[in-house]
Amino acid sequence: MMRKQIAAANWKMNLTLQQADQLIDELLDIPHDLKDYQEAVFGVPFPFLFNIKNKLAGKKNSFVAAQNCSDKNAGAYTGEVSAAMLKSIAVDYVIIGHSERREYFNESHATLADKINICFETGLKPIFCCGEPLAIREAETQNSFVETQLTESLFHLNAQQLTGFVIAYEPIWAIGTGKTASNEQAQEMHAHIRSIMAGQYGAVVADSISILYGGSVKANNAKAIFCQPDVDGGLIGGASLVATEFAAIINSLK
Ligand code: PEP
Repeated sequence: MMRKQIAAANWKMNLTLQQADQLIDELLDIPHDLKDYQEAVFGVPFPFLFNIKNKLAGKKNSFVAAQNCSDKNAGAYTGEVSAAMLKSIAVDYVIIGHSERREYFNESHATLADKINICFETGLKPIFCCGEPLAIREAETQNSFVETQLTESLFHLNAQQLTGFVIAYEPIWAIGTGKTASNEQAQEMHAHIRSIMAGQYGAVVADSISILYGGSVKANNAKAIFCQPDVDGGLIGGASLVATEFAAIINSLK
């Protein structure tokens, strides 16, 4: 079975409802072709999920993602949004452990493991983010840094849960900076991630995992990155807010 190729948008904390509607309408007007093994995923702010989900109804292989969910099931956690709430409005995916959440909201490996468990219990698909800061890349210790992120938050899962799982590798120094990892740097890390997963779960599971690259992917560099053998699409911030850019990125999936 061919693993999924995914173009995932991360709108972050941008847009109003009116702007969100306009963006998705513009995007849906641009021809973009999703093959059976390809998906477009829209990671939109909580208040827009329901609306965007409805706009995507009947569109082939097009899904919505929340950008976060609570690590608790329910209860007195003012301001939090639970996985069950997301499931009840038919959300498909949840982005877990984006570097901005790790950094600004102090999300630990253990918290992320809890969030992933809740996603599985609820029937939501996690998109697990990992990636090193610049100082780690400069010290050339990115491989062990990312390995720790994977082992600490994923290795309690079983092989069945990790079959068809989605990981996004996002080097922090490439996020929102206009500076992408080179095609070789991306491929090297993606192969490393796949080999870590193979070491723990075997080659069949590792080969089924979609590993997305994130960090300043644009329409003009997407194809070169996506055609690397271990790159299975991208997680896209800035360029996902421009309909023509994101449509072209979808069309760059291999
Ligand atoms: C992101 O935040 O997931 C991201 C990849 O952002 P950008 O594409 O803007 O670098």
